[in-house]
Amino acid sequence: MTDHAGTLNIEEFRAEVVEALSAVAVRRSDERSQWGVGDDRVSVVAERSEGEDEELAALRAYRAHLVACGLGWVDGPAQFGGRDLPAEYAAALRGLEAEFDLPDDSCLRFSVSTLTPTLLAHGSPVQQAAWLTRLRSADLVACQLYSEPDAGSDLAGLSTRAVRDGAGWRLNGQKVWSSGAHLSDVGLCIARTSPDKPKHAGLTTFLIDLDSPGIEIRPIRQLTGGASFDEVFLTDVYVPDERRIGEPDAGWSVVVTSLLNERSAIGTEVGVDEALVERLVDLARHVGDPLDERTRDAVAQIVTRAWAARLTTARFLEGGGVPGPELALSKLLATDLLRTMSDVTADILGAAHVADSGEWGTYAWSELTLGLPGLRVGGGTDEILKNTVGERVLHLPKDAR
Ligand SMILES: Cc1cc2nc3c(=O)[nH]c(=O)nc-3n(C[C@H](O)[C@H](O)[C@H](O)COP(=O)(O)OP(=O)(O)OC[C@H]3O[C@@H](n4cnc5c(N)ncnc54)[C@H](O)[C@@H]3O)c2cc1C
Repeated sequence: MTDHAGTLNIEEFRAEVVEALSAVAVRRSDERSQWGVGDDRVSVVAERSEGEDEELAALRAYRAHLVACGLGWVDGPAQFGGRDLPAEYAAALRGLEAEFDLPDDSCLRFSVSTLTPTLLAHGSPVQQAAWLTRLRSADLVACQLYSEPDAGSDLAGLSTRAVRDGAGWRLNGQKVWSSGAHLSDVGLCIARTSPDKPKHAGLTTFLIDLDSPGIEIRPIRQLTGGASFDEVFLTDVYVPDERRIGEPDAGWSVVVTSLLNERSAIGTEVGVDEALVERLVDLARHVGDPLDERTRDAVAQIVTRAWAARLTTARFLEGGGVPGPELALSKLLATDLLRTMSDVTADILGAAHVADSGEWGTYAWSELTLGLPGLRVGGGTDEILKNTVGERVLHLPKDAR
């Protein structure tokens, strides 16, 4: 059935999605309401763990199933396996996925939510044909090689160099905090190509193969105990020119597009996850004092703020296209809400928040508290995003630099 615009009716679409997901996964909505049943992990930052390769294999199988069902890229162009449906259909798919017991897909966030729209905006037709379908199906996994030991918020100050070498480029430098580099096939790397130009004007981006000679990937241990990101060392790495994304020295615009899409992904997919909010409500019911008005009020505020944040982001994303600077607000809303959730769980749990008593669903919340500082830094720190909102959304005078 189609609506007046010739688009598949959204209820029909939802039924199609439920059928596709039911074929490979269990709907966990009933299980979730049962306190004490199932995995009690509360994770906001992907963790490197034993069995990670098996998890990635399961994720690849799931993504291949979605592609086979015509759900691999709901709001993407038909020529790359997409359905050309409006953004609300992609949101409906994400909402239904949250109700099913599916493999954790955080290691694909960069490939699927950030790199594909960036390549749509800046890739050549040949590059789009070669990579977009493979990225959406997880046949190709990508990471982001931007940050360096001396370049984070001030990314344009980076010092990794790319120098012309025959039909390609020779790269030297060090990247750091590269999420999932150890799991990835390729990395979107920004390097300085014209040191004599102003810093934003002399940069170029490349999609490099991570098994190229001269690349060394070393994991970094995190506060939470896991190691989900890495240091990546580049020594005389040869990159063919057909791996360059955009024009030479025009890499900054590629980076800006990718960061806007990344913030949108973090705001929509991570922070205000409905299942996480439900877990908190359950915690207050089972562990907290249900008559404690302060806790009830705090939990109710979180539930309503999570809804408001989701709707605000949905409004920003209406109409599709490259998201604007207002998406910085989505990430700020998400991280601020997670900070409040961390405070409220600490209040409810008391000592059980920091000492593992073995009781289901209690100490597990410490992972949110320990993972949160990373989330407030990755994809743009709170301070940088507030500057973005002040200057580019509210048009206030520029911050002194
Ligand atoms: C979980 C996680 C995942 C990450 N994944 C990746 C990845 O996959 N690929 C990648 O390339 N990078 C990644 N990063 C790195 C991340 O992008 C940087 O950490 C971030 O940009 C901040 O840079 P920095 O750490 O150098 O801090 P700095 O830029 O040195 O900032 C230090 C402090 O100073 C503040 N500050 C800096 N400049 C200003 C200013 N102008 N105004 C006000 N305050 C300011 C910051 O807000 C911060 O509090 C990740 C980081 C984390 C935590």
